[in-house]
Amino acid sequence: MSDEIKVTLLTNVLRTFGLSEQAIDELVLYVEDLSAEAEPATDGPEPFRLREHFLSAAEHRFYLVLREATQGWAQVYPKVGLGSLFYATCSGYSQYLADTHRINHNHVDFLLCRPDSLRPALGIMLDAKGERSAGSRQADGFVAAVFAAAGLPLIHIPVQRSYNAQELAGRLSRAAKLPQLDAGAQPVATPPCCPRCGSEMELGVATGGILVWMCTNFPCCRAVRRVEPELRRTRA
Ligand SMILES: [Zn+2]
Repeated sequence: MSDEIKVTLLTNVLRTFGLSEQAIDELVLYVEDLSAEAEPATDGPEPFRLREHFLSAAEHRFYLVLREATQGWAQVYPKVGLGSLFYATCSGYSQYLADTHRINHNHVDFLLCRPDSLRPALGIMLDAKGERSAGSRQADGFVAAVFAAAGLPLIHIPVQRSYNAQELAGRLSRAAKLPQLDAGAQPVATPPCCPRCGSEMELGVATGGILVWMCTNFPCCRAVRRVEPELRRTRA
């Protein structure tokens, strides 16, 4: 049976389940991916090569500033697949597969994580200059919707010739609700235990920009504790 006939058959079968055309397209793509993976290995090396560039020149330039701007208070990861960050929660299996396929095929340009726990704190999309294609606008909209649904903040930063690391640090730390600790305030004191649930606590920024210990069990537990005075020194 030719691949084309298989796809038509599969599409017709899926239509009988009353799925939306979009869900059917996603599922067909997913099945095509799966069957491509199942292709028997040929003699000789697998047909894969290392890409010449992991990051574009603009992404790399931004990454270097990002690393400087977040030094000591956040870890930077470039090009993180949404499938490593989020999972789908829909009840139907076919919708679950379609949604999982969609998140597996999208990424966030940069991810900031808390320095020790590596808990994700902020997604960053670097917006290229000029008119964006309908496809990339649609992908951007999907990524934004996934972040919003999962309650993880996401910001867009336009590509620039140069960036002000300090300005960027302020913007990122506010968006991520992470404190920019002064190098002189390190190492940070041992985190206390949560008075409510016993989980470990970590430094965070409460509303109004106040440095507090927050429960790592957030959002299930919203307990906060005052921070020792010697830790309160933070960069503006
Ligand atoms: Zn707690």
